[in-house]
Amino acid sequence: MSLFDDYQIQPIINAKGSSTRVSGGFLAPEVAAAMKQAGEHCFDMAELQAAASRVIADVTGAEAGIVTSGAAAGLLLGTAACVAGLDPDKMSRLPDTTGMKNEVIMVRSQRNFYDHAVRTAGVRIVEVGLPDRVAGAGVRDAEPWEIAAAINERTAAIMYVANANARPALEEVARVANSQHVPLIVDAAAQLPPASNLRRFIAAGADLVAFSGGKAIGGPQGSGILAGGRDLIMSAILQNLDLDIAWAQWSPPPSLIDKHRLVGIPPHGIGRTCKVGKETIFGLLTALRLFLADTDQQRHDRGLAHVRRIASTAGSLRTASGAIREGSLPRYVVTLAENCPLSGMEACVALQNGTPPIHADPSQAANGVISFNPSCLREGDAEAIGRRLRELFG
Ligand SMILES: *Cc1c(COP(=O)(O)O)cnc(C)c1O
Repeated sequence: MSLFDDYQIQPIINAKGSSTRVSGGFLAPEVAAAMKQAGEHCFDMAELQAAASRVIADVTGAEAGIVTSGAAAGLLLGTAACVAGLDPDKMSRLPDTTGMKNEVIMVRSQRNFYDHAVRTAGVRIVEVGLPDRVAGAGVRDAEPWEIAAAINERTAAIMYVANANARPALEEVARVANSQHVPLIVDAAAQLPPASNLRRFIAAGADLVAFSGGKAIGGPQGSGILAGGRDLIMSAILQNLDLDIAWAQWSPPPSLIDKHRLVGIPPHGIGRTCKVGKETIFGLLTALRLFLADTDQQRHDRGLAHVRRIASTAGSLRTASGAIREGSLPRYVVTLAENCPLSGMEACVALQNGTPPIHADPSQAANGVISFNPSCLREGDAEAIGRRLRELFG
């Protein structure tokens, strides 16, 4: 605890899940040990990324892959790769995309806060489809033909955000993208578990897929994976690595960077800002191995055990009702009663302002529903949550 005393910072109970705002999850001891060992040696960074590429290709089914400083960094690098290809002059000019393919097609209902990473490459997002929901009569979202109709000679990529609610289905979008030879980038940042999703998006026809390493994989908080086709990954890593080196001295591993396909070395690229450290690479690869050694069933059962302890400590409440909601990740869901003096958001704030601070999932707070995600709870946290719920609603 002395580190926290030194800097006067108090850890929180994280019942929100591995979100960035609440610092992701925990490092397994093996991951922390791998990061420590990485910090005790020096390496050629291109060789480290080539080793990562072999592992990522193996677990995703893609031709290649790199460790990134998060899924959002993967979206920037992936977009930059689709725009610049293997042309060092284009790499060097980004984010000025004058005269280049500089449009990325996105279904309007999939626009989100993370697509700033796509725009950072210098492209314009072209929205398609009208998610007709509120007018009363609406049943439709974007359709594959609308994506096809938006493709033209300036189209650099199609961006798809993987989610159970995303429309149209990925397979339908991939059919359009693949038949028109337009690269398809998938944001799958938070689509793990199930572990089978590591392969699903490439298998469905994506050219690039970005995962967060700091969420369910359990890697360093600022880590991620970008997997995809060999040429796109070569372009992405060229725009990420530090390239302060002379051509004659430069001998990157050909499996990741085939230098003889380049007319020259680009200067530091647009993704040099998303630097990836050696600790991050070793940590992510170790976390990935542990994630795959675990099973979805074990992850579910650990979550259920936490959620049951919240339920048994909270007992029956007076101004709210609590219930376990089953799913691939079980949750404890509190629904405020009519007689509850607090609104959903006020209850979230009260949880946050208690000691220790408890951060729950506020996404349904407007409906008087607060849910507790067990994936980042430590020993004793479930009981602390249950006791606090008794104080607030008992
Ligand atoms: C979390 C998330 C991201 C960003 O992932 P980082 O690893 O934090 O960069 C991008 N897209 C979606 C849909 C996410 O949930």
